[in-house]
This record gives sequence, C-alpha cells and structure tokens, in this order.
Amino acid sequence: AAPMVAETDAQAQALGYAADTTKVSKAKFPKHENSQQCSGCQLYTGKAGDAGGPCALFPGKSVSAKGWCSAWVKKA
Ligand code: SF4
Repeated sequence: AAPMVAETDAQAQALGYAADTTKVSKAKFPKHENSQQCSGCQLYTGKAGDAGGPCALFPGKSVSAKGWCSAWVKKA
C-alpha cells in the first residue's frame, strides 16, 4: 500500500488535511462537520472497510478513511 499522507506534508498543510476528521479546527473551517470523512469523499478511491486509500489530490500516497481536508466533496 502507498505510504500514508502526513499532516505535515506541504500538500496536506495547504489543504488543511487531518488524519482524524474529528480533530479539524472549527475556527479555521466553520463548515466542517465530523460526518465528513475521506471515505465519503468523491475524490477517495479506497475500498470500503480499509483504513485508508488513494485520493486524487495526494498522488502516490494514502489518506486516512477517517481523514478530511478542505477539498472534501460528498460522494455522488
Ligand atoms: Fe480526503 Fe477528499 Fe480531501 Fe482527499 S479530497 S484528502 S479524500 S477529504
């Protein structure tokens, strides 16, 4: 599996990525809700039940299924 994205990576910082959606700052991202997770994001292509998987915005890496970033879009 691809290595997990670190919150300290440049792309992660730019997008406000957190490995745990419940740790996202309400002050910085007022529209964020804990129900929003990478596993429910349009850009996530991981398998259901896996701890993480690919995201179109993080080539060559895995994001946490329970993660979040400011580009989150509800899976259609
Ligand atoms: Fe997670 Fe979606 Fe952001 Fe990718 S774009 S890190 S899947 S919330």
